[in-house]
Amino acid sequence: MTSRLEARPATATAAIWAGVDAGFSVGEHPLPDLRPGEVLVAVELTTICGSDLHTIAGDRPTPLPTVLGHEAVGRIVATGGPAHGPAGEPLGVGDRVTWTIGTSCGACRRCRRGIPQKCLGVRKYGHEAVEAHWVLSGGLATHCHLVAGTGLVPVPDALPAAVAAPANCATATVTGAARRVGLTAEDSVVVQGCGMLGLTAVAYARDVGVEHVVACDVDPGRRELALGFGASVACAPGDLTDAAHEHGADVVLELSGSTPAVQGALEVVDTGGRVALVGSVSPAPDARFEPSSFVRNLTTVVGCHNYRVDDLVEAVAFLGRTPLQDRLAGLVSDPYPLTAIDEAVAAARSGAAARVAVHMERP
Ligand SMILES: [Zn+2]
Ligand SMILES: [Zn+2]
Repeated sequence: MTSRLEARPATATAAIWAGVDAGFSVGEHPLPDLRPGEVLVAVELTTICGSDLHTIAGDRPTPLPTVLGHEAVGRIVATGGPAHGPAGEPLGVGDRVTWTIGTSCGACRRCRRGIPQKCLGVRKYGHEAVEAHWVLSGGLATHCHLVAGTGLVPVPDALPAAVAAPANCATATVTGAARRVGLTAEDSVVVQGCGMLGLTAVAYARDVGVEHVVACDVDPGRRELALGFGASVACAPGDLTDAAHEHGADVVLELSGSTPAVQGALEVVDTGGRVALVGSVSPAPDARFEPSSFVRNLTTVVGCHNYRVDDLVEAVAFLGRTPLQDRLAGLVSDPYPLTAIDEAVAAARSGAAARVAVHMERP
């Protein structure tokens, strides 16, 4: 008789990235001995995020060597003791899950202040050097080793993997930004940048009940997509002032990270409005503002980086209820096998799709 545990392969296949010049090497690595609070997940699908591409391009420093990838979905294959979901519900072998992009201790000053993504002891998936006990720390592997302090969120079996994989970065970043900026159905919304986050933001704003969403992007193809995701109007940056004037700009979600767009967000936001700066995740040229316009305009600006586990819960719930699942899946490429990681990255860098997927079927 073969137990479920014994049926597991003894090794995982992982794409280890050793830097801009050394690139990826796909190889076998032992499965970890799980400690209390740890979980081993068999990864189903991983989508390559923009921040992975920044790392691969050498624009985002990361400790090396590392297993990149953090947007992923998979199934629990082993636990190091009891495992729980966000409501305390037990989770175990066979459960399909996504997980927070980083760990949080729950006890430090930042965790206690409600910003667990900035935990003083945070460790982030797809962003840590390989170490003896933690080799499988990213999504570009057949297995991901979830360490203590990781928030696990169940994913319904019916949710397509291509829709579920971006939940723990792109989608949860959007729901987290919406929470921080206090998005309500009564707001008129401007979304700047219509890549994976922006299109998700357009759909999420409409899901929340927002009537008017102005989408803005330099790329005509992305503007066309934004209309399909529910934007009332999609404009080029040069037309944003007029569009915002016509439809309103109570909330501006700045997801592009471009300095002119940040500048534009501060300029078009309505009196008493709120700006969520989300896209500016790496240093960029300065944006300038004239202080009295802020003061007289009663402007609120919030920075939004990563998210809390309740934002991930909301992200998965949104993906499960949105009528736009097919459109979201359409933003994700056909999956590449892990052994073709170089081709997958090349496709992602070419902009072939908003997300390029890598699936983890073992040969
Ligand atoms: Zn990401
Ligand atoms: Zn902490």
